Amino acid sequence: MIRTGKDYLKSIRERQPVTYYEGEIVNDVTSHHAFRIPVKTVAEYYDLHWREDHKALRVYNRDVGEESSISFMRPRTKEDLAVMRDGLLKIYEFYRGFFGRSPDYMNMWTMVFFAHAEDYFGKHFGSKFMENSVGIYREAVKNDLFYTHAIVAPMYDRSKPPSQWDDPYIQIGVVEERPEGVVVRGSAMISTAAPYSEMLWYLPNVRRDTDPRYAIYFSIPTNTKGVRFLARRGFQPREGGEFEYPISSRFEEADAVLVLDNVLVPWDRIIFYKKPELIEDLMWHTVSLRGWFNWHFVIQHYSRLKFLAGLAMAVAEAAGTSSFINVQEKIGEILIYVALNEAVLHASVERAQELPNIVRPDPYLSISGSHFNMRAVPRANEILRSITGGASIPIPAGAKDFTNPEERVYIERYMAMKGLDALERVKLFNLLWDVVGSEVGMRYEQYDRFSRGDPTIRWAQTYTEVFRDRKQEFVRLVREILDQMPNPKA
Ligand SMILES: Cc1cc2nc3c(=O)[nH]c(=O)nc-3n(C[C@H](O)[C@H](O)[C@H](O)COP(=O)(O)OP(=O)(O)OC[C@H]3O[C@@H](n4cnc5c(N)ncnc54)[C@H](O)[C@@H]3O)c2cc1C
Repeated sequence: MIRTGKDYLKSIRERQPVTYYEGEIVNDVTSHHAFRIPVKTVAEYYDLHWREDHKALRVYNRDVGEESSISFMRPRTKEDLAVMRDGLLKIYEFYRGFFGRSPDYMNMWTMVFFAHAEDYFGKHFGSKFMENSVGIYREAVKNDLFYTHAIVAPMYDRSKPPSQWDDPYIQIGVVEERPEGVVVRGSAMISTAAPYSEMLWYLPNVRRDTDPRYAIYFSIPTNTKGVRFLARRGFQPREGGEFEYPISSRFEEADAVLVLDNVLVPWDRIIFYKKPELIEDLMWHTVSLRGWFNWHFVIQHYSRLKFLAGLAMAVAEAAGTSSFINVQEKIGEILIYVALNEAVLHASVERAQELPNIVRPDPYLSISGSHFNMRAVPRANEILRSITGGASIPIPAGAKDFTNPEERVYIERYMAMKGLDALERVKLFNLLWDVVGSEVGMRYEQYDRFSRGDPTIRWAQTYTEVFRDRKQEFVRLVREILDQMPNPKA
């Protein structure tokens, strides 16, 4: 099934989770000022599938026997993978590379778990968990469900593993096993989109602590008894705000802390349990989850970099700075990032790994590309700040300034740029500020750096994990020269 925006709005109204906001439980997430924007954008995501010019987003899903979003499709050939990539690119072009926690992101994860039901979940955890990963996928596709996810333990004390904290249940852990399921308690640092999602994947970073009580992956409805979200302050613009905050008013995402207050997770919702040592195989090898989600991130960030390049060109050309070599160099730098991302997206399909159960993007390229973007995207923002100098700040307060005829005369005379009239210039600079300066802009920059983990650790892992099996290939190049060099005798 592929839903429409209307279907989603009806569903989320009926089954919205418990979210605390400023001391109260949110009554209607679809109209609440902190969530109405992302709710509207999620509804647009579903409607996008039904637009004539986006019908590539709808595919016949052979695994479920009905039509589904492309993001749920299990690629079986390189051609399938290319179709999936191009479909996702269409979605992120619509988002201009923002709104990365759109439903398609977790759809893809659920599909990947399904594809490895047998060779990973079945093999290591037995037939029950294998069936669970199949059942959860089928349910998600058939109902086109929207998942949030949570991975990271709260930042209580990063110098020690959570099992050594004063309360070992600050991080979510199993407190009790029962015939009908396990009871879990604790919290996770962040779960984007949680207040307006229908389902939760909890998938902790088991690497941080190998205590088996934390090693559990499960999927539950967000309105399950005991699930609570503590939402951060909304960064939503003033009422309206489409003129002053064109990105915030379209692509603001909400983030929340996840709390599980003695939640019963039925056995048929669990896919990974008590075997923390198996996590590396899931992340890097058999399932290559990191390959997959980083590929999705390259799609997001490629779309963003194109948008940022366009913004840099528009601003520089309007201000007459595009003729300066230093400005050209900087715009050229963003375009180099665009080209490198383009190469990754093409080659990751070209060099896809063709397994019997799934065809997946080349992980070396996807992971390295995504890790590179942790620094490339913030750098593109920095470039935008540097080429616009102080002009990005003194912009008339809002659309109303244009409605005062007396003020408008001054605005039109003094706010115009050589290449733009005053209204277009103010619109462009409002857009610029919303990318590089507003709360939403800064939140995105933090997301761009940290959403796949800390950049220092991830860059180090490019060496220690991603290229681990290829080390000899590089070292040999040096060894051969060393071996050919003479060995002088004393
Ligand atoms: C806007 C936004 C949205 C997000 N949405 C989600 C979401 O929906 N779901 C989700 O699960 N996660 C989400 N993430 C969280 C993201 O997964 C984490 O931020 C990321 O994994 C990094 O973890 P951390 O923030 O705990 O930082 P840490 O990894 O704790 O890093 C903090 C600092 O400590 C240093 N450090 C930490 N540990 C070590 C160590 N062992 N050795 C050396 N240095 C160390 C790091 O280098 C870094 O400087 C989101 C993040 C952001 C910013």
